[in-house]
Amino acid sequence: MPDLSRVRDRMIDLHLARRGISNPDVIEAMRIVPREAFVDPGYEEFAYEDSPLSIGHGQTISQPYIVALMAEKAELEPGDIVLEIGTGSGYAAAVMSRIAAHVYSIERHAPLAKAARKRFAELGYDNIDVRVGDGTNGWAEVGPFDAIVVAAAGPEVPRALKEQLDLGGHMIIPVGQQDEQRLLKITRVNATTFEEQDLGGVRFVPLIGDQGWREERTEPA
Ligand code: SAM
Repeated sequence: MPDLSRVRDRMIDLHLARRGISNPDVIEAMRIVPREAFVDPGYEEFAYEDSPLSIGHGQTISQPYIVALMAEKAELEPGDIVLEIGTGSGYAAAVMSRIAAHVYSIERHAPLAKAARKRFAELGYDNIDVRVGDGTNGWAEVGPFDAIVVAAAGPEVPRALKEQLDLGGHMIIPVGQQDEQRLLKITRVNATTFEEQDLGGVRFVPLIGDQGWREERTEPA
């Protein structure tokens, strides 16, 4: 694979720093992780354009700015245990794994999960676990989580994910209709109180599952 580190540095300057991403840990993680290793063969040259790219199964690898924004707003710290819903290519999990202690990631499409695991192994990223299943139910056995990052949009915040967020933890999740959503930051203040901040309008693929949309994408499950 060609050395794309200079293009990567340019992407960080142009699409991240100038658009307000300032957390040094996030910038460093985005500099370390080779996005070209997470796109389909033949698409490497597009890896540093600030746009989502197809990864098959009707799914996408998220735009770099969105990955950085979600990691920054989740306020990740070195000791954190993170839950990601929607592994996709594995790129966002890889970025978060360079900051946090461990990332648990759930993907509903088995072939995507398998490809992501292979990429992590090849890159030597050994603090990421991927499970195939419905992420709207969370991963209670390994929670609670310091941060939860949801990379697909549902009609509401899944109850199970709120329950598995640790006190003081942050969840970043797009919520709304299928064609447009608001990116929310949910902070757990205590056992029963959650603060909500609106981070702006976004457009994600649908979160499909028990506490998301139904497969046919017409009404909440
Ligand atoms: N974070 C990914 C990356 O960096 O490549 C991009 C994720 S893509 C925008 C959203 C992913 O969420 C898709 O791979 C989709 O299959 C997955 N997904 C949708 N609903 C899900 C659910 N209930 N549980 C787990 N994964 C889900």
